[in-house]
Amino acid sequence: MPTQLLDNHGRPLDYVRIAVTDRCNLRCTYCMPAEGIQYVPRQQLLTFEEILRLVQILAKMGVKKVRLTGGEPFLRKDFMKLLEALAQMEGIEHIHLTTNGILTTPHIPALKELGISGVNLSLDTLDRERFKTLTRRDELEKVLLCLDELVSSGIPTKLNAVIMAGQNTQDVVPLARLAEEMPIAVRFIEEMPFNGQGFTPEQKPWTHRQIQTALEEAFPGLEQIPAGPNSTSRIFAAPALTGKLGIIPAFSRTFCGSCNRIRITAKGLLKTCLYDDGVLDLRALVRSDASDQDLEAAFLKAFGNRAKDGFEAEKRRNDSQSVSESMSTIGG
Ligand code: SAM
Ligand code: SF4
Repeated sequence: MPTQLLDNHGRPLDYVRIAVTDRCNLRCTYCMPAEGIQYVPRQQLLTFEEILRLVQILAKMGVKKVRLTGGEPFLRKDFMKLLEALAQMEGIEHIHLTTNGILTTPHIPALKELGISGVNLSLDTLDRERFKTLTRRDELEKVLLCLDELVSSGIPTKLNAVIMAGQNTQDVVPLARLAEEMPIAVRFIEEMPFNGQGFTPEQKPWTHRQIQTALEEAFPGLEQIPAGPNSTSRIFAAPALTGKLGIIPAFSRTFCGSCNRIRITAKGLLKTCLYDDGVLDLRALVRSDASDQDLEAAFLKAFGNRAKDGFEAEKRRNDSQSVSESMSTIGG
């Protein structure tokens, strides 16, 4: 019988997302300030050996899917070696990647070769000037090339776009139109306060309802279709589309009841909810003389005390610190 790992609310936990670095070659306004963030000193990032040990323990406990993210994962030296080792690991059935696409294109043949299950590419606008404003870098062409190459390679590809009031709401429909010709899922994410500073008091996120209205107006016959059992996105199809559209209510948090995700941040903290502030210092544990059994026991304790949703996780944060850390340390 395969192991099924459950949390204290009976939700299966079979998916770990690991931020392999907090460094990035973009400076997306919704993710970090212009000057960047104070990066974790390199020796404090988990080593590949430490990551592989943790994933191996989790795989034995029932985790089957791994997503590597960051920061920008391709900034981590020899990143492909980590992917190759994970692809060989018993119990891990799916490996996914989230990337901004700037350094990704040359690695696409190798990603295909190792059988990657999917790549999420972040792109918030097709307009060069807005791309420069949103990411503070002039790199749109590289991202578009990466998208084309991913689609040509046949690797299942999802596009992630964060939609922000007053900034790129006009991009929802042009981005969605990419799914007319391409067999990709274009997913629109509500902005969250994980930007290194938090939301300003007057900041009002553009909601999943506003995104849906824009899509309904542009795509006659748009209908919601079943998503996977633990999907955080609502998926839509329309007669004009080869691919699919998705909406992720990341700020409204309507999906917590079926969340199967755990996270390991660039600082080596375990998060059992995106909105908690880290519930276990894994780096300290793996760098102590803790055995695999000790690590498994610590994981089980954390999974047995998981907040029921993102609102409870936010309330439980220590030192009443509001949600403001950069998404590049968490991984998204
Ligand atoms: N650098 C890679 C990238 O951008 O794809 C991987 C890391 S990035 C932190 C992962 C995802 O988090 C991206 O899709 C990004 O758009 C999303 N993200 C970052 N900050 C966010 C925020 N404040 N609200 C919602 N999504 C955010
Ligand atoms: Fe970098 Fe990704 Fe954050 Fe943009 S969203 S600054 S690409 S980590």
